[in-house]
Amino acid sequence: MEYVSTRGQIAPVSFQNAVMMGLADDGGLLLPNPIPSVGPDTLAAWRELDYQALCLEIMDLFVDDISSFTLNDIVSRSYSTFDTKEVTPLVFNGEQYILELFHGPTYAFKDIALQFLGNLFSWLLEDRGEIMNILGATSGDTGSAAIYGVRGKDNINIFILHPRGRVSPIQALQMTTVPELNVFNIAVEGTFDDCQSIVKEIFNDLEFKSVYRLGSINSINWARVLAQVVYYVYATLKLQRDAGAEHVHFSVPTGNFGDIFAGYVAKKLIQPAIGRLILATNENNILTRFVLEGRYAISGVVPTISPSMDIQIASNFERYLYYLYDKDAERVRQAMEEFSKTGELVFSREEREQVRKDFASASIDQDQTLKTIRECYKSTGYVLDPHTAVGVAAAQKLASSLDDQPVVCLATAHPAKFPDAVRKAIGRDPEQPEGMKGLANLPSRCRILPADVDVIKEYVRENALKQDGK
Ligand SMILES: *Cc1c(COP(=O)(O)O)cnc(C)c1O
Repeated sequence: MEYVSTRGQIAPVSFQNAVMMGLADDGGLLLPNPIPSVGPDTLAAWRELDYQALCLEIMDLFVDDISSFTLNDIVSRSYSTFDTKEVTPLVFNGEQYILELFHGPTYAFKDIALQFLGNLFSWLLEDRGEIMNILGATSGDTGSAAIYGVRGKDNINIFILHPRGRVSPIQALQMTTVPELNVFNIAVEGTFDDCQSIVKEIFNDLEFKSVYRLGSINSINWARVLAQVVYYVYATLKLQRDAGAEHVHFSVPTGNFGDIFAGYVAKKLIQPAIGRLILATNENNILTRFVLEGRYAISGVVPTISPSMDIQIASNFERYLYYLYDKDAERVRQAMEEFSKTGELVFSREEREQVRKDFASASIDQDQTLKTIRECYKSTGYVLDPHTAVGVAAAQKLASSLDDQPVVCLATAHPAKFPDAVRKAIGRDPEQPEGMKGLANLPSRCRILPADVDVIKEYVRENALKQDGK
């Protein structure tokens, strides 16, 4: 399998090199060429598999330069840290199918990709006799999941930027209480978009990137998207097997477009088994406006009770653009250039129609989110976290436009990660899982820095792991 850049300015690379590169050297994002698809016989065989076995089958289609033996080892180590063997249990709460993606060590869906990526990086580096400095931005959940993915690995240092005061207290504690010395937390005086653009800018400094062996864990890394493809397929096959579903719709609480892009890949992989993909946003609804109005135009970020979705510039959007533009990389390159100047992209009628075939979308405000948590709790006893509630509310809002096939709402975080919103909605605290208790009593480490590329670069320079100790 070869991987190409959405901007078409680099020669195709292997899976291993795609993972090591993160952001493509031409500023684009890497994609498998082509996205594979499987037929009914394969699907029938896959229906009998458990999560990890299915994961291996799917990854085998995208990865041809790592042996099945090694991949198996990486996958089983990655998912043995989850608190259920099912990895992503599908539950029916009486009203909705909820795919619980929060059974990993940091209780958000990002563990699914980042436990895998951490082990994958560590293996790749060991194999090559290399080291890496991971640099990433987080709106809360990525950071802790990435840190838990690589804590204590001796060939990796990790630097995580988060917007100071804009992640939940538990998210901050999860990141800053990890004692391993290869972990560096930076609280940036700014927004998540500031953090993300600083990281992008540093990665675009190719000399810095190569001298300090920078690696990426942001959702621009292809390995993350790949790991997330698995649970869409898993849930679909399960509903086909156990509930006789023909096809399955998904509602996806969306920020950076990473999760829903994995859904888009899954849909191509097992078509026609996946129906509609519902792109659910909070008040930061650039993507909903894109789907409904055919204009992709940034505006300011509003802080909400679903902070992991408080994003305006969706870093994975470019991957979808590549397909919307019929794999015309030159056009993607020009469009992204234009977007960085004007903050806006406009689409033709045919393109708008295509987008609305690929996605349905709804934007859910905070009152509606709280109401959804409250009503779900009242009628089923099930507690939704505010991100998941955005997806559930969007699915309810769009129900009449879907056929009668089941909708699966992705539960992207454990409610105990966002106790304030939950308390506001249902008048009591969500139950805390064991691993979350006692975080507040641990010592924490974090460096506060301004939203300034040069200052952040200097901090990385001082603390980076050096190849051969130099
Ligand atoms: C990251 C995150 C999202 C958004 O996922 P994207 O891949 O960025 O679209 C939604 N919910 C939670 C809890 C998250 O951590």
